[in-house]
Amino acid sequence: MKNRVIMHIDMDAFFASVEQRVDPRLLGRPVAVTGSQKRTVITTASYEARAFGVKTGMTKGEAKRLCPWLIFVQANNRRYTDTCTRLVELYKHYSPLVEVYSVDEVFMDVTGIAGLSNGAISMATEIRHRIKDAFGLTCSIGMAPNKLLAKLASDMKKPDGLVVIRDHREAGKILKDLPVGDIAGIGPRLEKNLGDMGIKTCGELAGVHVRTLKNRFGVVGEKLHLMARGLDDSPVVPVWQEPDAKSVGHSMTLPRDVYNPETLERHILQLSEMVGRRLRRGQYAGRTVTLTIRYRDFHTFSRRKTLTEHVSDGFEICHLAVSILRSFRLKKAVRLVGVSVSNLAAVDQLPLLKKDRVRRDLIRALDTINDRYGEFTVARGRLLEPVNGNGHSNGNGNGSGNGHGVISPAWRPNGVKRVEF
Ligand SMILES: [Mg+2]
Repeated sequence: MKNRVIMHIDMDAFFASVEQRVDPRLLGRPVAVTGSQKRTVITTASYEARAFGVKTGMTKGEAKRLCPWLIFVQANNRRYTDTCTRLVELYKHYSPLVEVYSVDEVFMDVTGIAGLSNGAISMATEIRHRIKDAFGLTCSIGMAPNKLLAKLASDMKKPDGLVVIRDHREAGKILKDLPVGDIAGIGPRLEKNLGDMGIKTCGELAGVHVRTLKNRFGVVGEKLHLMARGLDDSPVVPVWQEPDAKSVGHSMTLPRDVYNPETLERHILQLSEMVGRRLRRGQYAGRTVTLTIRYRDFHTFSRRKTLTEHVSDGFEICHLAVSILRSFRLKKAVRLVGVSVSNLAAVDQLPLLKKDRVRRDLIRALDTINDRYGEFTVARGRLLEPVNGNGHSNGNGNGSGNGHGVISPAWRPNGVKRVEF
């Protein structure tokens, strides 16, 4: 394997920092960014708020108890995605290989542009200065021979840090006593399973025979064996070269539990429009529509229907999702609803009838307007109506719409979420 130089750039307290820039009164003060719904949790806390123990995922009440003078700011997703898009433009001056990993993180392959021992450090320093000058934001950068180690490195000196892991000897020292859960890709469940086997650190995990891990975890076992050693040969995939998505979906927790099917249908239309737009951005269309429902008691289930032809129009997706909803009786009030489309194909491989071309051109025109002025600047009439008189307008027509906090963690500019199984 050739020696690669991978950079991981992670913005510090991204949403909160952006808000502090927009409203200077928030600078230096404890700020928590929340979703727009009633039962919202904290999305990002500023470092001033973190000092009091305020964390992502806490409810407003919990946070307020820790820090009574905490300032809550409602998330403005447009601001964050716009900033992300502009940041990516900046990164592209340094390398064409930029992978937008999430709204506030990218991987960049600078192999052949800068070496790990010299050039890369000055490049990273320059990038940090430029981000500070142009955006007033700080980031933490990790550099290493692969993505796994680069991500680990960026996390080691947050905020405003720069950490280089030069080679596997250095990596070995860091990994030896590192809790397995600190590795990106080892989630709480896997961490617990490993803990049950008496494995707490990457050093211990590296000491387990690969066959034992394979017997216990299947294919994942093999991956774990490599991860524990800091080995990772996954490439940096530029946004526009992502492998085929398996499905595209959105879901939302409703502002309040909903029993009324008509209200649910409006939420389904909004979600379907978002899914349609993401499909079209990725130049995909799909045949299978899945509707996911979670009752107020958290019981969750999905139903799907498959068409003979591929669709990417939100209205058609909605039509199918609603027909699924009408095919069974709701037993309880609904807390969360989700719509996704799978069985995808690339649009340019599909035949197109003349009437479909007219429709496609109309949708394209709408997409262009929304791309330029923000999501839901132009939306179908029904989305503009308030939902069920509870004062919660579903999507809005004034150009500042954010899709109501439904931003996907895997959001990418012009990209489609890659779903891994
Ligand atoms: Mg971050």
